[in-house]
Amino acid sequence: MFFASDNAGPAHPSVMQAMVDANSGYMGSYGADPIMERVRAKIREVFEAPEAAVYLVATGTAANALLLATYAQPWHAVFCADVAHVEQDECGAPEFFTNGAKLSLIPTADGRIAPDALRAAIARHPAGVVHGVQPGPLSITQITESGTLYGLDEIAALTAIAKEHGLPVHLDGARFANALVALDCSAADMTWRAGVDCVSFGGTKNGLPGVEAAVIFDPEKAWEFELRRKRAAHLFSKHRYLSAQMEAYLADGLWLKMAAQANANCAKLAEGLRETGVEMLHQPRGNMLFARLPMALHEKLKGAGAVYYAKGGTPANATPDSVVARLVCDWSLPEAELDRFIGLLKG
Ligand SMILES: *Cc1c(COP(=O)(O)O)cnc(C)c1O
Repeated sequence: MFFASDNAGPAHPSVMQAMVDANSGYMGSYGADPIMERVRAKIREVFEAPEAAVYLVATGTAANALLLATYAQPWHAVFCADVAHVEQDECGAPEFFTNGAKLSLIPTADGRIAPDALRAAIARHPAGVVHGVQPGPLSITQITESGTLYGLDEIAALTAIAKEHGLPVHLDGARFANALVALDCSAADMTWRAGVDCVSFGGTKNGLPGVEAAVIFDPEKAWEFELRRKRAAHLFSKHRYLSAQMEAYLADGLWLKMAAQANANCAKLAEGLRETGVEMLHQPRGNMLFARLPMALHEKLKGAGAVYYAKGGTPANATPDSVVARLVCDWSLPEAELDRFIGLLKG
């Protein structure tokens, strides 16, 4: 009953097989492997963006930080949600790789940035005043760190505000496939057609050993990104093994199948919580949800071996009578384990 994170599960066997298959003979290094050529073509096809620059790195933090560095000057503000991964979970990598750009946090109710809140944040950093940081890129996460989803119109509303101010837009897509499946739209619709300039296209949370793609729709930014990736020590010499993962991920819609399974697992979990009257904090739309568990239920679940992160009170703390649990489902979650967890909820 493992709900701690979607990166704690195994990688998909066909991805492992693709890495084994790639382990034969000589191939160009540093991204000059023939597999990468096919991956680039495939990602351009998926995004309907024949000119897009496509690079692979091994962590989402690298993809986010290097993309933001490509779009931000050190004196820029990077606008992001208060709960954004770039703010809470990257140990200052975006600040480090941008050479000190300032993250300007936008308060959110459910992980999604509201248009008015974005306007207010931009207004706090007026362009042209030498004393303050200048407005820079907007970074949004889809699905959000709170498990919620932006509609296409909501993304477009935010990017329109950014464009009014001449600001580029980055999308943290650690759970890109989960969002795409939930919205049932194309990758182009969710990104450049909605005004997004660059994407961290996640794979690790959805069945890869460890690859994320940085996708940049403006080819003029490509060379700078390449230099930044190398300088940041994220250009892999035996790159073929990254390429092989991504190729297998995108083959025959595997990425979408895994995301659909993870989302379905989460929907079933949400249904189980609803049936037992457990409060959910936000409307879960992908493969992750937040639930307020009464302390007794929390202790029962933990006692039965369930694994998940919980905040807001511990058994050692006498006062709180509940915790907020983050429950994440991956594609590989055994149905019997999910059923066992739901059974425990029911009594
Ligand atoms: C997991 C995650 C990342 C990437 O994290 P790494 O540990 O660096 O691979 C980025 N953004 C979000 C929203 C995530 O959940």
